[in-house]
Amino acid sequence: MAIIQLSRKAYFHNLDIIAQKVGDLSKIAVVLKDNAYGHGLIEMAKLAHEYGVKDAVVHNIAEAEMIKAYFERILILGGHSYKVDPQYFYVINGLSQIALMPEGLQVELKVDTGMHRNGVAMDEVEEALHALSERGLILKGVMTHNRSADTLSSEWFWQRENFKIVKEQVLSLQDKFGFEGPRFHSANSASTFRFQNFDEDLVRVGIAAYGCLEMDKGLEQPDLKPVLSLHAQKIATRTLEKGQHVGYNATFRAQERMTVSSYDLGYADGLLRSASNQYKTPEGEQLLGRVSMDNSSFTGDREALVVFENVNDYAKVAGTIGYEVLTALHPEIKRVVV
Ligand SMILES: *Cc1c(COP(=O)(O)O)cnc(C)c1O
Repeated sequence: MAIIQLSRKAYFHNLDIIAQKVGDLSKIAVVLKDNAYGHGLIEMAKLAHEYGVKDAVVHNIAEAEMIKAYFERILILGGHSYKVDPQYFYVINGLSQIALMPEGLQVELKVDTGMHRNGVAMDEVEEALHALSERGLILKGVMTHNRSADTLSSEWFWQRENFKIVKEQVLSLQDKFGFEGPRFHSANSASTFRFQNFDEDLVRVGIAAYGCLEMDKGLEQPDLKPVLSLHAQKIATRTLEKGQHVGYNATFRAQERMTVSSYDLGYADGLLRSASNQYKTPEGEQLLGRVSMDNSSFTGDREALVVFENVNDYAKVAGTIGYEVLTALHPEIKRVVV
């Protein structure tokens, strides 16, 4: 049986580093959207709770409902349904959303400071505050998102200046509209590690907590450890004679007599097919031929195969990023905390 192992030690180590960076555990919100980046929503919620984290971020209300018992506040980034609940804060991603929200809903206003994806424009902030006070919504936070925090450039700095302008504006208008003390936050994982002296109310950390943050050379490189490793179990072993091929369309050809085994992981489980014939495991076993739906073949005859310990190694070979490989991992693969 293929299995996902989650290292408690690595997770707590990463949270230690993040807490140190932001100065206080109470400023950490763990991002658990999309099955906790494939790690397993409940498993990671329990671990974060055990560590003492009080804030979580999810994609929709269904995810929030599943982890409600483990957090004080849950920020819901997307989705189209709302339920008034003292633990839930909903992100406003655009002006038109305000009219759809029920009275008494706790909301956080997202402001577009340069990414041009979600959020109200900077010159719409007053209009948004007016609309949400008319609607009877409760403003709990104001947030933005950086587009290039992991890149060595000036981008992060001007977006930060824009967010400061937004903050000043909201602080000067809050009395007028009857809001008190919304929290202000802009940082995802990469952005967290751009601050010299962290001075916001919260960080929304996803990939750094999972230990797979990648920053450009020249930027701070925190010593994080991957939490997730992927393991497959052997199905069958055979000997290939020189000249024999493995898998669909015979894309691998043996140059000499060799041992090959099939394993119980394929692209239906999330093992991206684009790494076919390219990838080598941490123990040096080569992926042979095309990844099939439920199987893949590797050199050797190990019973248990470590497919990857650091998802970014696999992602690079597959031509993508760790986030995509992680979130593609099938929710039915068993998750075990070690
Ligand atoms: C996903 C997400 C994050 C977390 O990003 P990481 O790079 O994984 O830390 C933070 N904020 C928002 C709005 C997000 O959508």
